[in-house]
Amino acid sequence: MNIILMGLPGAGKGTQADRIKSEFNIPHISTGDMFRAAVKEETKLGLGAKSYMDKGLLVPDEVTIGIVRERLGNDDCKQGFLLDGFPRTVPQAEALTETLKEMGQSIDHVINIQVSRDLLIERLTGRWICPVCGTSYHTLFNPPKVAGVCDKDGGKLYQRDDDKSEVVTQRLDVNIKQAQPLIDYYNQLGLLRNVNGEQDIQDVFAEIASILRG
Ligand code: ADP
Ligand code: AMP
Repeated sequence: MNIILMGLPGAGKGTQADRIKSEFNIPHISTGDMFRAAVKEETKLGLGAKSYMDKGLLVPDEVTIGIVRERLGNDDCKQGFLLDGFPRTVPQAEALTETLKEMGQSIDHVINIQVSRDLLIERLTGRWICPVCGTSYHTLFNPPKVAGVCDKDGGKLYQRDDDKSEVVTQRLDVNIKQAQPLIDYYNQLGLLRNVNGEQDIQDVFAEIASILRG
C-alpha cells in the first residue's frame, strides 16, 4: 500500500505515521526527518537544507524531489511506503507521480489530516521529541509518563528549533500557501480523503485505519 499523509505542520502526521507503520508494516518516509538527520551529520545536503529550515521555509523542490526519488528506490519500499511531509508543492506531487510511473507504481491513498491554525500553534509550541526514536510528545495533550523522558527508550526529550514561536507562524504561513493547490491536485485524481485531526490521537487513527482498510 502506497500512502501519502498530508497535513500542516503539527497536524499529527508523525504521531499517526508511527501507528500506521506498525499496523500496516510499511516504511515511514519523512522528508523533515531526513533533512534533520542530514543537518545533524553535517552532510552537504544538511548544510544546504539548514538555512531554509531555520527560517521555516521549504527546501527547494529539486533537492527534496532528489532525496525522495533515491529513498523510494530502496528495497524496503517494494511492499509499499508511507510518505509524511512530502509532497508539499504541486511540482513535488507531479515529480512523485512521474517517479512512481517509472517504477510501475502509483499512490493508493492520500490522507489529509485537518486541524485549525490556532490549535496547530499550540501543538507545535508544546511539542517535545525523543532524539533516539523520534516519538513526538506534547506537554499538555500527549505527555510522557515522566516529564522530559521518552516512554519507549528513556531518551531525553528536546524541542525542535523551528518549533520556537518566532519560526512557527512563518512555517504555518508558508505551508498554508502551498496546501490548497496540492489538495486540489489529489482531489482531481480522486485520491484525497480528509480526516478530522482535532480528535483524540486514537480516534484520528481509527478514522485513518478504516480508510486504509477500505
Ligand atoms: P506533524 O508530524 O504533523 O508535524 P506531530 O505528529 O509531531 O505533527 O504532532 C504535533 C504535536 O501535536 C505533538 O506534540 C503531538 O504529541 C501532538 N498531537 C498529535 N496528534 C494529536 C492529537 N490528535 N491530539 C492532541 N495532540 C496531538
Ligand atoms: P517537517 O518535519 O515536516 O515539519 O519539516 C521540517 C522542515 O524540513 C520544513 O520546514 C522544511 O524546511 C523542510 N522540509 C520537509 N519536507 C519538505 C518538503 N517536502 N519540501 C520542502 N521542504 C521540506
